[in-house]
Amino acid sequence: MLSSKNLINGEWYKSKENDELKSYNPVNGELVSESPSSTISDLKNAIDSARDAFNKDDWKENHTLRCKVLYQLSDLTKKYINEIAKTLTLENGKTLSDSMMEVKISADLYEYYAGMARNVYGRTVTHNSKSLSLLIREPLGVAGVITPWNAPIILLARSLAPALAAGNTVVIKPASLTSGVTYEFIKLFNLIPDLPKGVINLVSGSGSKLGTELAKNSGIDIITFTGSTEVGKEIVRNSAENLTRLSLELGGKSPNIILKDADFETAIKGAITGACLSTAGQICYTGTRILVEKSVYKKFMNKIKTIIPKMLVGDGMKSDTNIPPVISSGQLETVMDYIEYGKNNAKLLLGGNQMLEGEYKKGNFIEPTVFYDVPVESKISQEEIFGPVLSVFEFETEDQAIDIANNTVYGLAAAVWTNNINKAISLARKVNAGTVWVNNYGKNYSAAESAGFKQSGIGTLRGLEGLNEFTQLKNVIIETE
Ligand code: NAP
Ligand code: MG
Repeated sequence: MLSSKNLINGEWYKSKENDELKSYNPVNGELVSESPSSTISDLKNAIDSARDAFNKDDWKENHTLRCKVLYQLSDLTKKYINEIAKTLTLENGKTLSDSMMEVKISADLYEYYAGMARNVYGRTVTHNSKSLSLLIREPLGVAGVITPWNAPIILLARSLAPALAAGNTVVIKPASLTSGVTYEFIKLFNLIPDLPKGVINLVSGSGSKLGTELAKNSGIDIITFTGSTEVGKEIVRNSAENLTRLSLELGGKSPNIILKDADFETAIKGAITGACLSTAGQICYTGTRILVEKSVYKKFMNKIKTIIPKMLVGDGMKSDTNIPPVISSGQLETVMDYIEYGKNNAKLLLGGNQMLEGEYKKGNFIEPTVFYDVPVESKISQEEIFGPVLSVFEFETEDQAIDIANNTVYGLAAAVWTNNINKAISLARKVNAGTVWVNNYGKNYSAAESAGFKQSGIGTLRGLEGLNEFTQLKNVIIETE
């Protein structure tokens, strides 16, 4: 069992409170980790420590140091990939190969932003022969990083890497359900002696208590939050008093659009990949709404009826498992409520049950479930389910596909499958989503930005804009003579 601690001003502490947050293996309910259930006073100490470290200059003014620390972190992430991935699967449930991929991509983000740490640049503007503006990019100060449980290592990296590269110091509040693996990862900083004390702080504890305080605290200069739209809105309300800068990466209900001229076998694979079943559908960009053009609709339904039932539901640690359990009994209940709703408001093609036989009864296992004839206005078409549940829609015209695709409050991601480049571009432009994949699903690169449209978020991560998100521009206006 993992016993984690808080990191404040370079020292590891248990909270003064004796309460512990506990996380359990979603496969069998065994205890995986205990983490401090910290107090507001622990959090305030961490914010003070981050502020002191920021004021000391040796971090924010030293880009070669930041570059070196981030390269070392990337190397350590690769070196300890097996240990971190194993804890991630034990705590979150996702398949071990998915966990390995998550840690590997995180290492790439640290490596990419190690390079960017030496490229924090503004620009100059010449107004006339006697006046000039120097537009300088400065770090914001202390960043509060709040992560979700569904991909806790990569989503930490996506915020932490640019925040550090730009010269900020940070206070991290991990998701309660994955505090253990976050601690395991943050321990890597012990192996980087060059890191000044207080640049990185970790405080575990409840989101409603610590998250609320982070959003309200005037010592925080930016909140970088990945999580649900509901909590994102709560953070907007709580941060309003100080007008704290926000970067919010929120929920999704992404459409995966298959046209009749797509390569059919590739598109089927894409629909399955997009369903993110190797995480039991618990990914923000999961392609939960599959839109299929009428002339290939029946063929599509027959095909997934044969493929999905052959996928093995089980323990993510086992190499032959395709679909792991959902993370917690609470998540299981939420997903089963949506499934019950779906049974009463749409037609069920596959699945629809919790799995309770034999070993399955110890864990949070749900059959992969597919609905069709789903009303576009219904709850299962509109709301994020975050489980192994798909809805398939039939469309006749591209306008109809776009109407269905854009008919939610979300705008995180979408995909289009077609061999016609004109249709691909036309649909990609009409769909309201921050990321659109053409003939692939779910690929992301450290160097290219992603952002949520509509209620899927505010702000941009990855790439150069992801770095700029953690800076503010200062205009120094110089007049000569
Ligand atoms: P969540 O319930 O919104 O929680 C996210 C984080 O916020 C956790 O650390 C949580 O702490 C904390 N929190 C809870 N209440 C808070 C409050 N009032 N103020 C501040 N922080 C608070 O999300 P989740 O269930 O962990 O993750 C799933 C959600 O994340 C889905 O909606 C998914 O779409 C979204 N997501 C989005 C992206 C993206 O890139 N757009 C990526 C991944 C996930 P506790 O754990 O202690 O509750
Ligand atoms: Mg939640």
